[in-house]
Amino acid sequence: MSDVIHLLPDHVANQIAAGEVVQRPASVIKELLENAIDAGAENIQVYIKEAGKILIRVVDDGVGMSLTDARLSFERHATSKIKLAEDLFQLQTKGFRGEALASIAAIAHVELKTRRENDEVGTCIKIEGSEITSQEACVTPRGTSISVKNLFYNIPARRNFLKSDTVETRHIVDEFQRVALAHPAISFSLVHNSGELFQLPGTNFRQRITNIFGGKTNEKLVPVNEDTEILKISGFVGKPEFAKRSRGEQFFFVNDRFIKSPYLNHAVSAAFEGLLKEKSYPSYFLYLKVDPKSIDINIHPTKTEIKFDDEHALYAILRSAIKHSLGQFNVAPVLDFER
Ligand code: ADP
Ligand code: MG
Repeated sequence: MSDVIHLLPDHVANQIAAGEVVQRPASVIKELLENAIDAGAENIQVYIKEAGKILIRVVDDGVGMSLTDARLSFERHATSKIKLAEDLFQLQTKGFRGEALASIAAIAHVELKTRRENDEVGTCIKIEGSEITSQEACVTPRGTSISVKNLFYNIPARRNFLKSDTVETRHIVDEFQRVALAHPAISFSLVHNSGELFQLPGTNFRQRITNIFGGKTNEKLVPVNEDTEILKISGFVGKPEFAKRSRGEQFFFVNDRFIKSPYLNHAVSAAFEGLLKEKSYPSYFLYLKVDPKSIDINIHPTKTEIKFDDEHALYAILRSAIKHSLGQFNVAPVLDFER
């Protein structure tokens, strides 16, 4: 019998990897926004058509790419962000896997326009099925514009699995808000079909939160600040009387990255103990800074879960910082008869 193992062609390998990175239009938005931020953009615009199923376009004014880099950016494991295995333990960027563009290009029609500040002309590239189908010098503003059309056009099962436009748009808005909250100094806009959903000028944390969740949010916010050797905390918790019936407004950002952490969420709840009515959840917008060496972000391709070296210590610091802030703001416990 002859040997039976062979290496998969790139476009097949890319399509397999895409299954993990890209679940829905919102995942594309997240990856493109993160790339724009890593490129040092100050202004980022997102356009979507039909909840991103027809078109997702992210335009940034970041550093742009050279012609060679523009071509290479769609190869798998092609990245400018890390070089050595050691770099994984001191990540300064959102990206590092070099997989997003290769994955997206395997399952959508992609158009890239990019120009660096000092280049006279830019590069415009079209890709279908992981193959570059056209490439030309073109006039384009400094920065990068990536259009992702007809997501999952070649994976009918995935395309059919997409939910209604309302649901997919909700997912997009969630991702957009998470990124926008993590980076208040950058200006962001989101336009759906021709309607503007968000227009967020560059500002500070507090203002970004109120720009997203409405002016009334401002008076609900209690600042939380703590500075210890292993953890720096800044941000806000919502006053207990404004606690919600849903968990909608709960955000942790670790080193400027939105993450989900049931464990740290528990620390917040513990700090609110005795202050909340039953079945209500506190709002929080907490920015945590830790030594990049003390966390592992490389647990899951979407990077929303991370592993902390010293979870227990973080829990204790977080809980006591929030308790302290709530105490300072004279937040009285909810009286028993109100329950
Ligand atoms: P990663 O972000 O993990 O490096 P990606 O596939 O998302 O992988 O991007 C590959 C590379 O393409 C990046 O490392 C970066 O050099 C370049 N790139 C992608 N998007 C942009 C952008 N908006 N502006 C400038 N360079 C970009
Ligand atoms: Mg990336």
